[in-house]
Amino acid sequence: MTTSTMTKKKTETRVCRLCGDKKEIELFEIDSRVKGGRTSRCKACKSSLNDRSRTLYAGLKYRAEQAGQPLEVTRKELQALFATFDGKCIYCGISEEETGESHHVDHVIPVSEGGRHHRSNLVLACASCNASKNNAPFIEFYMRKKDKISDENFNTIVYFISLMSGQPVDEVLMSFIVDYKMKLYSHLSDFISKEEARELFEEVVTEKFKEERAS
Ligand SMILES: [Zn+2]
Ligand SMILES: [Zn+2]
Repeated sequence: MTTSTMTKKKTETRVCRLCGDKKEIELFEIDSRVKGGRTSRCKACKSSLNDRSRTLYAGLKYRAEQAGQPLEVTRKELQALFATFDGKCIYCGISEEETGESHHVDHVIPVSEGGRHHRSNLVLACASCNASKNNAPFIEFYMRKKDKISDENFNTIVYFISLMSGQPVDEVLMSFIVDYKMKLYSHLSDFISKEEARELFEEVVTEKFKEERAS
């Protein structure tokens, strides 16, 4: 390495995507997967995200233990959840800095509806979205909050759950719809099971496609 490139390296700076501060490149972690070989979050921001995930994990663990439910998620996985979404609410995209309060871990399928404490069912949500969603099926919440949840965020949620659960995207969507419809027609649960409902809806969707193609 020549003297000139060394000098150049020393003064190289970058703007952190999270705090927006311009900092020396050494304050960004090395990451060979990204362009330039450094992450776009500064080390301070990254470690603060890790601290928050630790607090959330402790809360989730306590909650699961109290309810006697299995905790099937690791602290590292929650840490990754924070990192993946830059600490932003998966639904409305707001950051903790903007709301001035801590985000929550949201169970996409509510625990009361049999949702697991597992990475395939956990997302990061702001307190407001989390409270508004409560025990509602995802689609019901989405219909209410359509103006806050961008199409892009909706797609991200579906793709994220698909990745984490290993289910194809269309199956994830279908399960969201089945959960919603079952709640809407909860009186039907005496007559038809979730599996039967899924088959029924799949049939309707297939018929609809056929009709559209025929016309
Ligand atoms: Zn930063
Ligand atoms: Zn939100």
